Amino acid sequence: QDFVPPYDATVVARLKSAGAIVVGKTNMDEFAMGASTETSAMGVTGNPWDTTKTPGGSSGGAAAAVAAGTVPLSLGTDTGGSIRQPSAFCGITGLKPTYGRVSRYGLVAFASSLDQAGPMGWSVDDVAIGLQAMAGYDPRDSTSVNAEVPDFTPALAAEDVRGMRIGVLREGLDQDGISPAVRDALATAESVLREQGAEIVEVELPHSKYWVPTYYVIAPCEASSNLSRFDGAHYGYRVGDAEIAAADSGPLEAMYSLSRAGGFGSEVKRRIMVGTYALSEGYYDAYYNQALKVRRLIRNDYDAAFQQVDLLLGPVTPSPAFALNEKTDDPIAMYLCDLFTVGANLAGVPAISLPGGFDAAGLPVGVQLQAPVMEETRLLRAGNVFQMASDFHTRRPPTFTANHSQ
Ligand code: GLN
Repeated sequence: QDFVPPYDATVVARLKSAGAIVVGKTNMDEFAMGASTETSAMGVTGNPWDTTKTPGGSSGGAAAAVAAGTVPLSLGTDTGGSIRQPSAFCGITGLKPTYGRVSRYGLVAFASSLDQAGPMGWSVDDVAIGLQAMAGYDPRDSTSVNAEVPDFTPALAAEDVRGMRIGVLREGLDQDGISPAVRDALATAESVLREQGAEIVEVELPHSKYWVPTYYVIAPCEASSNLSRFDGAHYGYRVGDAEIAAADSGPLEAMYSLSRAGGFGSEVKRRIMVGTYALSEGYYDAYYNQALKVRRLIRNDYDAAFQQVDLLLGPVTPSPAFALNEKTDDPIAMYLCDLFTVGANLAGVPAISLPGGFDAAGLPVGVQLQAPVMEETRLLRAGNVFQMASDFHTRRPPTFTANHSQ
């Protein structure tokens, strides 16, 4: 609260030097943990298509700001879906780059092996402009990849997807709780891309049923480690001196424990406890190490699939936007929102969420394309061709107020 950072994140600095005007910060779940923007200390955000619904999360404010017409482009981070899921819920386009394509310098770390920043906008060409400005090697982030950023303009000039093989992911789609609108959007995307020249084939990622459990071990472990720096002394919120003096424990312990107890919200505390437990002696091998091994198998599935196909097509979310408060008392239900998105983070591959249709109530539904590492160009090409042949990304919510040219 009221914190003004003394320096810009690399992504912000790069956008500014490309001429972008930063107008503000958008709401999000606390420490980017959540799928509904309801754990924010700043309050909740409504979905511009229906303000009784969540905009998704954790980058819900960024998605809502674009959808409502406030800005043409926003930034999110995606550790397990937080760019793509809110983009799908708000009917906009959101791209999670390859892990390492965009610098993490200046981001608050959640799960360092999964976190990646990316652009959100109405259309593929808008997010391509954002990515072009943001991406590239940064010596201040040791995991940023030292590779040329391609010029994305030729990908956007492609008129079709002839010669592309696209694998469709159907795993998990026949479960209860998956909205028919999600299956319909996928079917529509398949036929549009086929009409535009792609060859559509069936593909499986056999370990996909382990994505969510693997993610919900690795992400909390990394979070518990990263968030240990919020100790009241070096970093973050610090409890008042009077409360420290009144505590029964010694002043040092009181400062740590009261600052952490008072500064973190309940979802963040849950993750810290889960992560600390899974990393503790005697449990490390059973949970954390095991999860790392399964993560390898998940990546192997992607590698095998990309031997056969150029891109993967699948859903983004199990359903369109749900009601505010619907899942706040049920963390497992909230975690299951990530069913189709965490695979890309665990494997490190780039993925894009595209507006893919609307449900019977008029809420947007997304479709997702995933590509091999460093192949954002393919996502942009296929995504742009899809948008030239469909009009979902051109529809605007009732609350839309254009204060910039469209
Ligand atoms: N919903 C996921 C979580 O709560 C993803 C969050 C994210 O990508 N930042 O961890």
